[in-house]
Amino acid sequence: MYRTHTCGELRMQHTGETVTLAGWVQTLRKFGSITFIDLRDRYGITQLLFNESLNSKLDETPIGREYVIQVKGKVLERSNKNPKLPTGDIEIEVTEFAIMNIAVTPPFTIEEDTDGGEDLRMKYRYLDLRRPVLRRNLELRYKVNRSVRNYLDGQGFWDIETPYLIKSTPEGARDFVVPSRMNGGQFYALPQSPQTFKQLLMVSGYDRYYQIVKCFRDEDLRADRQPEFTQIDCEMSFVEQEDILQTFEGLFKHVFNDVKGVKIEEAFPRITWDDAMWNYGNDKPDIRFEMKIHNAKAKHTVYNTALDGVEFKVFNEAETILAIAVPNASEYTRKQLDELTEWIKRPQIGMTGLVYIKCNTDGSYKSSVDKFFTEEKLKEFAAHCNAATGDLILILAGAETRTRKAMSELRLEMGQRLGLRNPDVYKPLWVIDFPLFEYDEESNTWAARHHPFTSPKPEQIELMAMPERFGEIKANAYDIVLNGTEIGGGSIRIFQRDLQEKMFAALGLSPDEAQEKFGFLLGAFEYGAPPHGGIAFGFDRLCALLGGQETIRDFIAFPKNNSGRDVMIDAPSAIDDKQLNELNLKVTL
Ligand code: ASP
Repeated sequence: MYRTHTCGELRMQHTGETVTLAGWVQTLRKFGSITFIDLRDRYGITQLLFNESLNSKLDETPIGREYVIQVKGKVLERSNKNPKLPTGDIEIEVTEFAIMNIAVTPPFTIEEDTDGGEDLRMKYRYLDLRRPVLRRNLELRYKVNRSVRNYLDGQGFWDIETPYLIKSTPEGARDFVVPSRMNGGQFYALPQSPQTFKQLLMVSGYDRYYQIVKCFRDEDLRADRQPEFTQIDCEMSFVEQEDILQTFEGLFKHVFNDVKGVKIEEAFPRITWDDAMWNYGNDKPDIRFEMKIHNAKAKHTVYNTALDGVEFKVFNEAETILAIAVPNASEYTRKQLDELTEWIKRPQIGMTGLVYIKCNTDGSYKSSVDKFFTEEKLKEFAAHCNAATGDLILILAGAETRTRKAMSELRLEMGQRLGLRNPDVYKPLWVIDFPLFEYDEESNTWAARHHPFTSPKPEQIELMAMPERFGEIKANAYDIVLNGTEIGGGSIRIFQRDLQEKMFAALGLSPDEAQEKFGFLLGAFEYGAPPHGGIAFGFDRLCALLGGQETIRDFIAFPKNNSGRDVMIDAPSAIDDKQLNELNLKVTL
């Protein structure tokens, strides 16, 4: 037997017992004739004591960091207890030890906070994964996985696998392709999601499906994306939007409670996409704090009467003027305001100026545009923003899309600076009634905002024949948003062949192209397809959020870096000529 206990298991009640432990040497400290070793495994750390009689043996067979050793000894109460360690009340007085494997010195410290940079950690990911922080992340991931499965199982969902070697699924990214040796010159695409297969399963009658499944999207890896990532993918038949929202709100409540001990009793708020854009400037609002955007002017329509009769060129000419009232910030100094102005001028934000109004606690108003606004006017502006005394109103003016985006960023930044974005607070919400289409300025075409299988609001179907009104059509599509991050989205699907054909036509697919790409689905819709709908959640991101962290990489055992590389195994890499020949491929680089 290699061990009787793990390194996280022994407590005061075990004192006097003889035990055998095995694990990795975390640290080694020599004090004269005695030596302490911290022994680590997945479960924790236990202190080992090598006293005088064993010390000479240690000199003969030196032990280094990350050696794998086995020790036998007696559990003793420690004189110098460590309240930070669960095993900190005891130590093992070693009587026998064996080195099971030696280790070269690791390239970075295997501690909670390591001295290793990102690249080094990725190259030696198997060492990085020994660090407690990564171990906790993977444990959390496993718990979320188990919790999701338990809930869905209880709701009658079946986990059904779908293939990875398929044909393109239109989720808006590029496909990863796999050449077929047996079918020369032909390629599979890896699924961007199991979308079409889960819909086919509905046609087959498997009316509650789920899968925790890999999806592959060949995108530029901006921010926090991975080329292969995991979705909790779900689909149901004979359901309306309300059924889906209820079922998956239940899933989230279950997981929050199960994994974090957080009970959310109330229903998740729901807001329409239009309202989200109007009040928060984006479709994934962080509602842990209020600070809504006030539309003084939007697309040349003035909503704040304080602007009437004011001769200020910047405001008069702007398409849109937006404001937020930042609580208790009227005492911001000149320096702080200058710094904020620099912040909004950064290329990522792209604004040229920031206007402020201080609603001073003595009841006076002071602004950066005092030349153009009387105090009465400032007061009127502030009233439109529901600003209280002590608030600092920040105003941006410019073109609609850019200004709204910039204000959305500024709102989040101010929330951050005021400490209102507490990672331990969970504020989920549904965003509903998304637009069906979005206009792609580059190609001058309409694209599906979600994907082409999403159904329009039934009362707007006739607009699908009027391209000039595509922008008005709303979909039965919904996203779930947590703390300012979209963590899932789905829709009620089209399930009739003729409507699906209309949708493909609206997206510019000829009947032949539609047949070639999606003939299997159109065909299936002729054999009794039930009404259905579903949703998919970003599993990696959900885990990161529940772990209180922003990046998903450290919640994935073996992630890719920003260039889509696995630097540990060195992939992707070239393949040899024999393989290329078998695949009838020629590399022209
Ligand atoms: N397949 C969709 C996606 O990956 C989710 C869904 O519509 O169920 O976003």
